[in-house]
Amino acid sequence: MQEVKDLLQLLGEPCNVVITSHRNPDGDAVGSCLALKYILEKKFFNVKVALPSEFPDVLAWMTDADDILVYDREKERVIEAIEKADIVFCLDFNTLSRIDKMGEAIAASSAKIVMIDHHLYPDNFAHILISDPEGVSSTCELLFVVFKEAGWLNILPSESLDALLVGLITDTGSFKFSIRTKTLSHASEIVALGGDIEKVQDRLNNHQSEKWLKLLGHCLSKRMIIYPEKKAGLIYLTKKDYIDFNILRGDTEGIVNYLLQLDVVHVAGFITEQPTIIKVSLRSKGNFSVQQMASEYYKGGGHKNASGGSFYGSLKQAISLFEEAIDKYKVEIIQSY
Ligand code: 5GP
Ligand code: MN
Repeated sequence: MQEVKDLLQLLGEPCNVVITSHRNPDGDAVGSCLALKYILEKKFFNVKVALPSEFPDVLAWMTDADDILVYDREKERVIEAIEKADIVFCLDFNTLSRIDKMGEAIAASSAKIVMIDHHLYPDNFAHILISDPEGVSSTCELLFVVFKEAGWLNILPSESLDALLVGLITDTGSFKFSIRTKTLSHASEIVALGGDIEKVQDRLNNHQSEKWLKLLGHCLSKRMIIYPEKKAGLIYLTKKDYIDFNILRGDTEGIVNYLLQLDVVHVAGFITEQPTIIKVSLRSKGNFSVQQMASEYYKGGGHKNASGGSFYGSLKQAISLFEEAIDKYKVEIIQSY
Protein backbone atom coordinates (compact mmCIF):
# COMPACT_ATOMS: atom_id res chain seq x y z
CA MET A 1 0.00 0.00 0.00
CA GLN A 2 1.61 3.28 -1.13
CA GLU A 3 -0.10 5.16 1.72
CA VAL A 4 1.63 2.96 4.31
CA LYS A 5 4.99 3.65 2.64
CA ASP A 6 4.20 7.38 2.80
CA LEU A 7 3.25 6.98 6.44
CA LEU A 8 6.50 5.19 7.30
CA GLN A 9 8.40 7.99 5.62
CA LEU A 10 6.46 10.59 7.60
CA LEU A 11 7.27 8.67 10.79
CA GLY A 12 11.01 8.68 10.00
CA GLU A 13 12.01 10.64 13.13
CA PRO A 14 10.32 10.76 16.55
CA CYS A 15 8.20 13.92 16.83
CA ASN A 16 5.08 15.31 18.49
CA VAL A 17 1.92 13.40 17.61
CA VAL A 18 -1.73 14.03 18.43
CA ILE A 19 -4.21 11.20 17.90
CA THR A 20 -7.89 12.03 17.83
CA SER A 21 -11.25 10.50 17.03
CA HIS A 22 -14.92 11.45 16.79
CA ARG A 23 -17.30 13.03 19.32
CA ASN A 24 -19.05 10.47 21.59
CA PRO A 25 -16.14 8.08 21.05
CA ASP A 26 -16.95 4.37 21.08
CA GLY A 27 -14.75 1.29 21.51
CA ASP A 28 -13.39 1.51 17.97
CA ALA A 29 -12.53 5.20 18.40
CA VAL A 30 -10.76 4.82 21.75
CA GLY A 31 -9.30 1.40 20.87
CA SER A 32 -7.69 2.65 17.66
CA CYS A 33 -6.30 5.81 19.29
CA LEU A 34 -4.72 3.88 22.16
CA ALA A 35 -3.45 0.99 20.01
CA LEU A 36 -1.55 3.50 17.85
CA LYS A 37 -0.36 5.51 20.86
CA TYR A 38 1.29 2.51 22.58
CA ILE A 39 3.29 1.49 19.51
CA LEU A 40 4.35 5.06 18.63
CA GLU A 41 5.49 5.60 22.22
CA LYS A 42 7.56 2.45 21.95
CA LYS A 43 9.18 4.16 18.96
CA PHE A 44 9.94 7.25 21.12
CA PHE A 45 7.26 9.55 19.70
CA ASN A 46 5.71 12.07 22.08
CA VAL A 47 2.02 11.17 21.84
CA LYS A 48 -1.15 12.81 23.15
CA VAL A 49 -4.57 11.25 22.62
CA ALA A 50 -7.18 14.04 22.55
CA LEU A 51 -10.90 13.36 22.10
CA PRO A 52 -13.68 15.93 21.56
CA SER A 53 -15.93 14.49 24.30
CA GLU A 54 -15.88 12.02 27.18
CA PHE A 55 -15.42 8.31 26.44
CA PRO A 56 -17.60 5.56 28.00
CA ASP A 57 -16.73 4.40 31.54
CA VAL A 58 -16.67 0.83 30.31
CA LEU A 59 -13.34 1.67 28.60
CA ALA A 60 -11.69 3.21 31.67
CA TRP A 61 -9.68 0.00 32.34
CA MET A 62 -7.57 0.54 29.22
CA THR A 63 -3.90 1.41 29.83
CA ASP A 64 -3.38 5.20 29.97
CA ALA A 65 -7.12 5.89 29.60
CA ASP A 66 -6.55 8.41 32.44
CA ASP A 67 -4.13 10.38 30.27
CA ILE A 68 -6.62 10.95 27.43
CA LEU A 69 -7.31 14.66 27.00
CA VAL A 70 -10.98 15.55 26.55
CA TYR A 71 -11.71 18.81 24.75
CA ASP A 72 -15.02 19.35 26.55
CA ARG A 73 -13.21 19.57 29.90
CA GLU A 74 -9.71 20.82 29.02
CA LYS A 75 -9.88 22.97 25.90
CA GLU A 76 -6.58 24.81 26.42
CA ARG A 77 -4.49 21.65 26.83
CA VAL A 78 -6.03 20.13 23.71
CA ILE A 79 -5.46 23.23 21.60
CA GLU A 80 -1.87 23.51 22.89
CA ALA A 81 -1.23 19.84 21.96
CA ILE A 82 -2.62 20.41 18.44
CA GLU A 83 -0.51 23.57 18.00
CA LYS A 84 2.65 21.68 19.00
CA ALA A 85 1.87 18.61 16.88
CA ASP A 86 3.97 17.66 13.86
CA ILE A 87 1.52 14.92 12.91
CA VAL A 88 -2.21 14.61 13.71
CA PHE A 89 -3.86 11.21 13.28
CA CYS A 90 -7.63 11.27 12.67
CA LEU A 91 -8.96 7.81 13.42
CA ASP A 92 -12.47 6.38 12.93
CA PHE A 93 -14.01 9.51 11.41
CA ASN A 94 -13.79 11.18 8.05
CA THR A 95 -14.91 14.78 8.27
CA LEU A 96 -13.44 17.48 10.53
CA SER A 97 -16.95 18.74 11.33
CA ARG A 98 -17.43 15.61 13.47
CA ILE A 99 -14.91 16.99 15.98
CA ASP A 100 -16.34 20.54 16.18
CA LYS A 101 -13.88 23.21 17.38
CA MET A 102 -11.03 20.72 17.49
CA GLY A 103 -11.50 20.31 13.74
CA GLU A 104 -10.98 24.05 13.23
CA ALA A 105 -7.75 23.92 15.24
CA ILE A 106 -6.51 20.94 13.23
CA ALA A 107 -7.41 22.60 9.91
CA ALA A 108 -5.47 25.72 11.01
CA SER A 109 -2.38 23.83 12.23
CA SER A 110 0.68 23.13 10.11
CA ALA A 111 0.78 19.47 11.20
CA LYS A 112 0.62 16.70 8.64
CA ILE A 113 -2.75 14.98 8.88
CA VAL A 114 -3.17 11.22 8.57
CA MET A 115 -6.67 9.76 8.38
CA ILE A 116 -7.27 6.06 8.99
CA ASP A 117 -10.97 5.25 8.79
CA HIS A 118 -13.70 2.91 7.56
CA HIS A 119 -16.68 5.27 7.05
CA LEU A 120 -18.27 5.90 3.67
CA TYR A 121 -17.38 9.06 1.69
CA PRO A 122 -14.27 10.52 3.38
CA ASP A 123 -13.65 14.26 3.11
CA ASN A 124 -10.45 15.35 1.46
CA PHE A 125 -8.53 17.00 4.31
CA ALA A 126 -5.72 14.53 5.07
CA HIS A 127 -2.19 14.45 3.67
CA ILE A 128 -2.26 10.66 3.94
CA LEU A 129 -5.66 9.01 3.58
CA ILE A 130 -6.08 5.35 4.46
CA SER A 131 -9.78 4.60 4.05
CA ASP A 132 -11.56 1.28 3.58
CA PRO A 133 -15.35 1.47 3.96
CA GLU A 134 -15.97 -1.94 2.38
CA GLY A 135 -13.27 -4.41 3.37
CA VAL A 136 -12.93 -4.07 7.14
CA SER A 137 -15.21 -4.23 10.18
CA SER A 138 -13.64 -1.39 12.08
CA THR A 139 -10.89 1.20 12.18
CA CYS A 140 -9.04 -1.11 14.59
CA GLU A 141 -9.05 -3.84 11.95
CA LEU A 142 -7.76 -1.39 9.32
CA LEU A 143 -5.07 -0.22 11.76
CA PHE A 144 -4.01 -3.85 12.21
CA VAL A 145 -3.67 -4.14 8.41
CA VAL A 146 -1.54 -0.95 8.44
CA PHE A 147 0.66 -2.31 11.27
CA LYS A 148 1.08 -5.52 9.30
CA GLU A 149 2.10 -3.68 6.12
CA ALA A 150 4.45 -1.54 8.15
CA GLY A 151 6.19 -4.70 9.40
CA TRP A 152 5.38 -3.87 13.03
CA LEU A 153 3.51 -7.02 14.10
CA ASN A 154 6.38 -8.48 16.07
CA ILE A 155 6.97 -5.32 18.05
CA LEU A 156 3.33 -4.52 18.92
CA PRO A 157 2.96 -4.23 22.70
CA SER A 158 0.26 -6.45 24.25
CA GLU A 159 -1.69 -3.28 25.14
CA SER A 160 -1.94 -2.44 21.42
CA LEU A 161 -3.21 -5.94 20.64
CA ASP A 162 -5.89 -5.70 23.35
CA ALA A 163 -6.88 -2.20 22.20
CA LEU A 164 -7.28 -3.45 18.60
CA LEU A 165 -9.57 -6.21 19.89
CA VAL A 166 -11.69 -3.58 21.66
CA GLY A 167 -12.52 -1.98 18.29
CA LEU A 168 -13.07 -5.26 16.45
CA ILE A 169 -15.39 -6.49 19.19
CA THR A 170 -17.40 -3.28 19.63
CA ASP A 171 -17.87 -2.52 15.92
CA THR A 172 -18.99 -6.10 15.19
CA GLY A 173 -21.20 -6.41 18.30
CA SER A 174 -18.93 -9.22 19.55
CA PHE A 175 -18.55 -10.74 16.07
CA LYS A 176 -22.26 -10.71 15.29
CA PHE A 177 -22.25 -8.31 12.29
CA SER A 178 -19.93 -6.60 9.73
CA ILE A 179 -17.84 -9.75 9.68
CA ARG A 180 -15.95 -10.94 6.69
CA THR A 181 -13.74 -14.03 6.71
CA LYS A 182 -10.85 -11.58 6.83
CA THR A 183 -12.20 -10.01 10.03
CA LEU A 184 -12.13 -13.39 11.73
CA SER A 185 -8.64 -14.18 10.48
CA HIS A 186 -7.38 -10.75 11.57
CA ALA A 187 -8.90 -11.33 15.03
CA SER A 188 -7.27 -14.73 15.11
CA GLU A 189 -3.88 -13.24 14.13
CA ILE A 190 -4.20 -10.62 16.89
CA VAL A 191 -4.97 -13.34 19.44
CA ALA A 192 -2.10 -15.51 18.14
CA LEU A 193 0.25 -12.54 18.68
CA GLY A 194 -0.87 -12.31 22.31
CA GLY A 195 -4.12 -10.30 22.34
CA ASP A 196 -6.14 -11.37 25.39
CA ILE A 197 -9.59 -11.77 23.81
CA GLU A 198 -11.17 -13.30 26.91
CA LYS A 199 -10.06 -10.40 29.09
CA VAL A 200 -11.27 -7.85 26.54
CA GLN A 201 -14.66 -9.55 26.10
CA ASP A 202 -15.01 -9.72 29.87
CA ARG A 203 -14.09 -6.05 30.38
CA LEU A 204 -16.52 -4.94 27.68
CA ASN A 205 -19.47 -7.14 28.58
CA ASN A 206 -19.43 -7.96 32.28
CA HIS A 207 -18.72 -4.65 33.99
CA GLN A 208 -21.85 -2.56 33.45
CA SER A 209 -23.36 -0.61 36.34
CA GLU A 210 -26.74 -1.32 37.95
CA LYS A 211 -27.79 2.11 36.66
CA TRP A 212 -27.17 0.99 33.07
CA LEU A 213 -29.38 -2.08 33.38
CA LYS A 214 -32.17 -0.03 34.98
CA LEU A 215 -31.92 2.49 32.16
CA LEU A 216 -32.15 -0.32 29.61
CA GLY A 217 -35.28 -1.60 31.39
CA HIS A 218 -36.80 1.88 31.24
CA CYS A 219 -36.02 2.21 27.52
CA LEU A 220 -37.58 -1.16 26.70
CA SER A 221 -40.67 -0.83 28.90
CA LYS A 222 -41.49 2.89 28.65
CA ARG A 223 -39.72 4.43 25.66
CA MET A 224 -40.05 1.89 22.87
CA ILE A 225 -42.36 2.25 19.85
CA ILE A 226 -42.71 -0.57 17.33
CA TYR A 227 -44.08 0.08 13.83
CA PRO A 228 -44.87 -3.52 12.72
CA GLU A 229 -46.37 -2.53 9.37
CA LYS A 230 -43.12 -0.70 8.50
CA LYS A 231 -40.72 -3.18 10.11
CA ALA A 232 -39.20 -0.46 12.21
CA GLY A 233 -38.71 0.37 15.85
CA LEU A 234 -37.73 3.37 17.91
CA ILE A 235 -36.46 4.10 21.41
CA TYR A 236 -36.30 7.69 22.62
CA LEU A 237 -35.08 9.42 25.77
CA THR A 238 -36.24 12.77 27.11
CA LYS A 239 -34.21 15.44 28.87
CA LYS A 240 -35.99 14.43 32.08
CA ASP A 241 -34.87 10.81 31.61
CA TYR A 242 -31.28 12.11 31.46
CA ILE A 243 -31.78 13.74 34.86
CA ASP A 244 -33.84 10.94 36.47
CA PHE A 245 -31.36 8.22 35.46
CA ASN A 246 -28.25 10.41 35.74
CA ILE A 247 -27.33 9.38 32.20
CA LEU A 248 -23.74 10.16 31.26
CA ARG A 249 -21.88 9.80 27.98
CA GLY A 250 -21.57 6.16 27.01
CA ASP A 251 -24.47 4.95 29.20
CA THR A 252 -26.76 4.68 26.16
CA GLU A 253 -24.19 2.85 24.00
CA GLY A 254 -25.63 -0.28 22.40
CA ILE A 255 -29.25 0.22 23.51
CA VAL A 256 -30.45 0.72 19.91
CA ASN A 257 -29.21 -2.76 18.99
CA TYR A 258 -31.80 -4.42 21.24
CA LEU A 259 -34.51 -3.38 18.78
CA LEU A 260 -32.87 -5.40 16.01
CA GLN A 261 -33.35 -8.57 18.06
CA LEU A 262 -37.06 -8.33 17.22
CA ASP A 263 -38.21 -10.31 14.22
CA VAL A 264 -40.47 -7.42 13.23
CA VAL A 265 -37.72 -4.75 13.24
CA HIS A 266 -35.46 -4.28 10.21
CA VAL A 267 -34.62 -0.64 10.95
CA ALA A 268 -34.08 0.77 14.42
CA GLY A 269 -33.84 4.34 15.64
CA PHE A 270 -32.61 5.75 18.94
CA ILE A 271 -33.39 9.40 19.53
CA THR A 272 -32.14 11.30 22.56
CA GLU A 273 -32.90 14.80 23.73
CA GLN A 274 -29.56 16.35 24.73
CA PRO A 275 -29.13 19.83 26.25
CA THR A 276 -28.82 21.70 22.93
CA ILE A 277 -29.35 19.09 20.27
CA ILE A 278 -31.29 15.93 19.42
CA LYS A 279 -28.95 13.02 18.68
CA VAL A 280 -30.10 10.24 16.40
CA SER A 281 -28.67 6.73 15.96
CA LEU A 282 -29.92 4.47 13.18
CA ARG A 283 -29.29 0.76 12.70
CA SER A 284 -30.47 -1.83 10.20
CA LYS A 285 -30.13 -5.52 9.52
CA GLY A 286 -30.09 -6.65 5.92
CA ASN A 287 -29.75 -4.44 2.88
CA PHE A 288 -31.44 -1.20 3.81
CA SER A 289 -28.90 1.61 4.07
CA VAL A 290 -29.43 3.79 7.13
CA GLN A 291 -26.42 5.81 5.92
CA GLN A 292 -28.64 7.37 3.28
CA MET A 293 -31.47 7.90 5.76
CA ALA A 294 -29.11 9.57 8.27
CA SER A 295 -27.72 11.90 5.65
CA GLU A 296 -31.11 12.74 4.11
CA TYR A 297 -33.03 13.31 7.34
CA TYR A 298 -30.47 14.12 10.03
CA LYS A 299 -27.42 15.62 8.24
CA GLY A 300 -25.36 12.65 9.34
CA GLY A 301 -23.71 9.55 7.96
CA GLY A 302 -21.76 6.45 8.91
CA HIS A 303 -22.18 2.97 7.49
CA LYS A 304 -24.87 1.03 5.66
CA ASN A 305 -26.06 -0.74 8.83
CA ALA A 306 -25.03 1.80 11.50
CA SER A 307 -25.29 5.53 11.11
CA GLY A 308 -26.07 8.63 13.09
CA GLY A 309 -26.90 12.27 12.83
CA SER A 310 -28.42 15.15 14.73
CA PHE A 311 -31.41 17.43 14.65
CA TYR A 312 -32.09 20.97 15.88
CA GLY A 313 -35.68 21.19 17.09
CA SER A 314 -37.93 19.36 19.53
CA LEU A 315 -37.83 15.67 20.41
CA LYS A 316 -41.35 15.39 19.01
CA GLN A 317 -40.26 16.80 15.66
CA ALA A 318 -37.26 14.46 15.53
CA ILE A 319 -39.57 11.48 16.17
CA SER A 320 -42.02 12.71 13.50
CA LEU A 321 -39.14 12.93 11.05
CA PHE A 322 -38.19 9.34 11.83
CA GLU A 323 -41.80 8.30 11.22
CA GLU A 324 -41.80 10.24 7.93
CA ALA A 325 -38.57 8.49 6.85
CA ILE A 326 -39.77 4.95 7.63
CA ASP A 327 -43.04 5.71 5.87
CA LYS A 328 -41.24 6.96 2.76
CA TYR A 329 -38.94 3.93 2.67
CA LYS A 330 -41.35 1.30 4.01
CA VAL A 331 -41.31 -0.83 0.86
CA GLU A 332 -37.50 -0.90 0.74
CA ILE A 333 -37.31 -1.58 4.49
CA ILE A 334 -39.80 -4.46 4.33
CA GLN A 335 -38.05 -6.03 1.34
CA SER A 336 -34.52 -5.44 2.62
CA TYR A 337 -34.32 -8.39 5.00
P1 5GP B 1 -23.77 6.10 16.77
O1 5GP B 1 -25.18 5.87 16.39
O2 5GP B 1 -23.21 4.94 17.54
O3 5GP B 1 -23.51 7.42 17.39
O4 5GP B 1 -22.97 6.13 15.41
C1 5GP B 1 -23.10 5.11 14.45
C2 5GP B 1 -22.23 5.43 13.27
O5 5GP B 1 -22.67 6.61 12.63
C3 5GP B 1 -20.79 5.66 13.64
O6 5GP B 1 -19.99 5.03 12.67
C4 5GP B 1 -20.63 7.13 13.60
O7 5GP B 1 -19.36 7.48 13.22
C5 5GP B 1 -21.68 7.60 12.60
N1 5GP B 1 -22.28 8.87 13.06
C6 5GP B 1 -22.90 9.08 14.24
N2 5GP B 1 -23.34 10.36 14.35
C7 5GP B 1 -22.95 10.98 13.21
C8 5GP B 1 -23.10 12.32 12.73
O8 5GP B 1 -23.66 13.21 13.37
N3 5GP B 1 -22.56 12.58 11.50
C9 5GP B 1 -21.93 11.62 10.76
N4 5GP B 1 -21.44 11.95 9.56
N5 5GP B 1 -21.78 10.35 11.19
C10 5GP B 1 -22.27 10.02 12.38
MN1 MN C 1 -15.68 2.45 13.83
